Amino acid sequence: MRKIQMVDLKGQYADIKDVVNPSIQEVIENTAFINGPKVHEFQKNLENYLGIKHVIPCANGTDALQIAMMGLGLKPGDEVITADFTFAATVEVIALLQLTPVLVDVNEGDFNINIDAIKKAITPKTKAIVPIHLFGQCANMEAIMEVANEYNLFVIEDNAQAIGANYTYKDGSKAKAGTIGNVGATSFFPSKNLGCYGDGGAIFTNDDDLAHTIRGIVNHGMYRRYHHDVVGVNSRLDSIQAAVLDAKLPKLDSYNRARQHAAKKYNASFKGIQSIITPVTVNKGCVGICDNCDCHVFHQYTLRIEGADRDALAAHLNESGIPCGVYYPIPLHKQKAYADDRYNEADFPITNQLVKEVISLPMHTELDDEQIEFITSTIIKFING
Ligand SMILES: *Cc1c(COP(=O)(O)O)cnc(C)c1O
Repeated sequence: MRKIQMVDLKGQYADIKDVVNPSIQEVIENTAFINGPKVHEFQKNLENYLGIKHVIPCANGTDALQIAMMGLGLKPGDEVITADFTFAATVEVIALLQLTPVLVDVNEGDFNINIDAIKKAITPKTKAIVPIHLFGQCANMEAIMEVANEYNLFVIEDNAQAIGANYTYKDGSKAKAGTIGNVGATSFFPSKNLGCYGDGGAIFTNDDDLAHTIRGIVNHGMYRRYHHDVVGVNSRLDSIQAAVLDAKLPKLDSYNRARQHAAKKYNASFKGIQSIITPVTVNKGCVGICDNCDCHVFHQYTLRIEGADRDALAAHLNESGIPCGVYYPIPLHKQKAYADDRYNEADFPITNQLVKEVISLPMHTELDDEQIEFITSTIIKFING
């Protein structure tokens, strides 16, 4: 059996070398390293794939979130509601811009931001909601957009973990994750579902004016050369990364299907095993366990371990040559940087529980059946003692 990796970028590269290498070589030959034609080509191709009017490439996913908030004109003191159970980048940029982060609890089922908690947290100062499509599946966007419309709030989708996922509306129509709110932000960090070979990110929007504003912000606030109309940043996707992404984009759907296939195998093996709760997909078009749908793209395959020792299981897996991860071990409202007297423990029952239960298993495009069988049997043996 091949060595099991949490994310197998080497295996994936071996498979796409013939496409990626010439794409990179072309950039090196024509030396247009910054804002070269590859960046523009990738931008257009991603716009077509997502069915969105504007993609603005930038340097990484954290920048994408920050620039989205700058573009919307959020001002110090504005309150921004986001989830307590996620990676810190989202709350980090809110705090960095001197906006006020308002962390709220998530759902037990899909790990995504809880709509009642959002409603409860709205004040006259609230200006935006940032749902994170955690682990590869969309937050409840229809409900979020309804609340946002009612209270006149912006919605910024953190789509770093769900590129390619579809959101199905109640009426059956679909939209790509990240294209539903006012603006979407994504990351092309190497381990993401669409990853480059370094750092990269992008912002998506259908709003022409916002796209124009953001194109200036990413380029030092310039709309005309050496005329700085607003305070901007320097955040670019370099041409070599665009070349990698443009070579990989046509594969994104098959990559996501490979992840879904692995998830389905995992689900089947764990069926009926005490103490193991497999991931739940709750998209309106697809209630229950995701078998044949495109609403969950499994950036992570995350189990909940109830009534067994999660940390002992993690240690046992590592000893057995099976990498695993705990995403995320500490609620954001308990992190030193983001703790605040405003928060009340009683408002975070789910996050406080999830951080003790979750464990993410190897998930990537090259997992084979033998590896999955070894991983699942090792876990089941441990659980059954
Ligand atoms: C990876 C990630 C980010 C940040 O992306 P970078 O490209 O590493 O800056 C933001 N939000 C979430 C949910 C992520 O998973």
